Amino acid sequence: MSGTTYDDYTASYAARAQGMTASEIRALFSVASRPEVVSLAGGMPYVSALSLDAVGDLLGDLVASRGAAALQYASAQGDAGLREHICEVMRLEGIAASPDDVVVTVGSQQGLDLVSRIFLDPGDVVVAEGPSYVGALAAFAAAEARIVHVPMDDDGLVPAALAETLERLAAAAGQQAKLLYTVPAFHNPAGVTLAAGRRAEIMDIAARHGVIVVEDNPYGLLGFEQSPPAALRGEHPGVIYLGTFSKTFAPGLRVGWVLAPPAVRDKLVLLNEAAVLCPPTLSQLAVAAYLETQPWQEQIKVFRELYRDRRDAMLDTLDDLMPAGTAWTRPTGGFYVWLRLAPGLDAKAMLPRAIAERVAYVPGTAFYADGTGAGALRLSYCYPPPDRIREGVRRLAAVVEAELDLLRTFGAAAAPHGDRDARLRADSPGPELA
Ligand code: PMP
Repeated sequence: MSGTTYDDYTASYAARAQGMTASEIRALFSVASRPEVVSLAGGMPYVSALSLDAVGDLLGDLVASRGAAALQYASAQGDAGLREHICEVMRLEGIAASPDDVVVTVGSQQGLDLVSRIFLDPGDVVVAEGPSYVGALAAFAAAEARIVHVPMDDDGLVPAALAETLERLAAAAGQQAKLLYTVPAFHNPAGVTLAAGRRAEIMDIAARHGVIVVEDNPYGLLGFEQSPPAALRGEHPGVIYLGTFSKTFAPGLRVGWVLAPPAVRDKLVLLNEAAVLCPPTLSQLAVAAYLETQPWQEQIKVFRELYRDRRDAMLDTLDDLMPAGTAWTRPTGGFYVWLRLAPGLDAKAMLPRAIAERVAYVPGTAFYADGTGAGALRLSYCYPPPDRIREGVRRLAAVVEAELDLLRTFGAAAAPHGDRDARLRADSPGPELA
């Protein structure tokens, strides 16, 4: 962002735009993008592992053979052929769906926006895991919703905590939760997966409270050990399910989808028309052609092996070098490790010092709408090669060690401050935070 900070439009903004500002973390990331900094911050898939020549040929062939359709407007629901392929992809995770119930979106990020706008009035309550994906928090904040977090442990969302939170909300006038937002598989940012034994219980609790479950599942096919975890939507047709080709193929195409019950689907199509007329035709046909002509399941295997090696590089180095008192999750898929600092340390305060030591991460506060999370941070292993990951963790371990030394010498810094207007403080999901 450039230019003067004076804003002539202040008096004119809608309430939902008043509180939108770039966070301080953003400013630091402009430094973190320098080549000497190892960034363990961004969530960018390693698209260089694709056969880029094959993708180039596919795009050329597509325009040569079907250019008039590929470069034209099309249906707001999305290309019918692509929607059939999307159902084949979802079958891998135990979902039997009809292409009629799929709406193609501009990435699952637009799915989050559409779902928010369909269900949320200002002040409505969304219950979300703590921590939660920053882009989902941003979509809920843009809809002026109130976000209430429910804790997770190594097995994902904690059912007893969910029940307690929903009961507490139901008891307060006008606070009944409307949506439960969850990423059950290979969570961003927590790096955990909802245990199979908890799934039915979570769904029962949500049903008991009349809460709609929104399942966001970008990483389900990127498991390192087992076959993909079954999606919640598989056994529960009332779940609103968000999918994407961003992690299994390419985020730059911006093709995702929402699978929803027919009544909701109809509203999604109308809202999609208002938002973008139709999802990008060229991208949709490119994804359909990719799924038809390329060994896409083999490619997912390539990604899984690549990310598993990088996960191993990160966990091994953390095990070797992180000072005592630090704890982290051990992801079995996806892109992220969630690391808890020893009590008394603050990940946001530590970030400038980490960047000075040439390593970047995302402080935990980015993933909470209520100003908490300062004691934790997210590390991603998806993008840098293993030797850079080892170097980055080595630098981070030295920074944490130095912070602990300071803490032992001078005692805890001032307690982390809460936010006055947490509702509007969710960071927007730029590339560093995605
Ligand atoms: N949900 C989650 C949990 C994510 O991690 C991301 C991207 N990082 C998205 C949604 C959005 O992805 P896209 O819009 O590229 O499909």
